[in-house]
Amino acid sequence: MIGARAHIAALSPYALADAPGAGVVSLAQNESAFAPSPAALAAGRAAVTDGALYPDPDWGELRAAISAVHGVAQDAVLCGAGSMELIGALIRAYAGPGDVIVSSQYGYAFVTTAAGQTGAQCLHAPEPALHVDTRAMAAAVTPATRIVFVCNPGNPTGTLIPVADILRLRADLPSGVMLVVDQAYGEFAESSDDPSPVFDLVARGDTVVLRTLSKAYGLAGARVGWGLFPPGIAAEVRKLLNPNNVSGVSQAMAAAALRDQDYMRDVVARTARIRDRFCADMRALGLEVPVSHTNFALLRFGTPERAQAADNALRAGGILMRGMAGYGLADSLRATVAEAPVMARATQILTEHLT
Ligand SMILES: *Cc1c(COP(=O)(O)O)cnc(C)c1O
Repeated sequence: MIGARAHIAALSPYALADAPGAGVVSLAQNESAFAPSPAALAAGRAAVTDGALYPDPDWGELRAAISAVHGVAQDAVLCGAGSMELIGALIRAYAGPGDVIVSSQYGYAFVTTAAGQTGAQCLHAPEPALHVDTRAMAAAVTPATRIVFVCNPGNPTGTLIPVADILRLRADLPSGVMLVVDQAYGEFAESSDDPSPVFDLVARGDTVVLRTLSKAYGLAGARVGWGLFPPGIAAEVRKLLNPNNVSGVSQAMAAAALRDQDYMRDVVARTARIRDRFCADMRALGLEVPVSHTNFALLRFGTPERAQAADNALRAGGILMRGMAGYGLADSLRATVAEAPVMARATQILTEHLT
């Protein structure tokens, strides 16, 4: 018997959404409803010709594009094969057996998995009424806490933490505790709050901000995430990233997508219009739906049985949403916002099912 280390053997595999069968539309993974920018597709096709070569290990063109869009220093940016790679490397660098990561009740599930991979424990501060309570997160910190992870806007809640609360959370944390702000859906929330004060926290030396190309930019398949890191943390995390971690095609697509801000803004606006219509329709059916600042909606059916029955009806109609039992929300389904006709079909199925 070849035994894995005890904490790995005890770990459950990270639970992804069910694979959609033939003819089924997946609304289960928060992928973009829209194709990537045509400029990104062209850049990717051109980059294929360099397939014999290792990609730029320093993500030069990509970091230049991030720097131009966000007004951040290029050398403060690290890029990952998705922001999941950066989350994993951060936790491996700063936590291990006996250490605690603090997240929130409905915080991103991958943080719990990544903590478990190192033997660290993940604690979840209560999230009353599906809104992150930053005071409760600060109160959950003990001398064993290494990192506090906050996702804003939240997944799977879709709710937004005011920037002032993030700033106060940082002020309330001991300086020896790292704060990581995961802004995977940040582009969908920028009209409601100015994110730059959160980027400015990085200069303190104890805070990291994460972004991804997987959602608003429609590049989930390219696996590109990035973060803004203080120099000391960047140096340690970089040791844990595989060299040449982001393929050349992916770097080229991501850089071109970032340079096409008009396209991304248009996708975000179109997604928000479809989302708001869908959420209004769902509330009219009697479902509780928190106001979403993302590309998905959380549908609360009241009981696990009703959520399961709705999931069955949707699957029978060719639509796959994401069950939320893993987050302790077995009464809920999470629906990624797709093109308007798909959402209209989902509305029709649920209307027939519930009325
Ligand atoms: C989708 C998502 C990510 C992004 O993951 P990638 O690895 O960049 O695709 C990160 N955090 C949250 C909360 C997400 O929902």
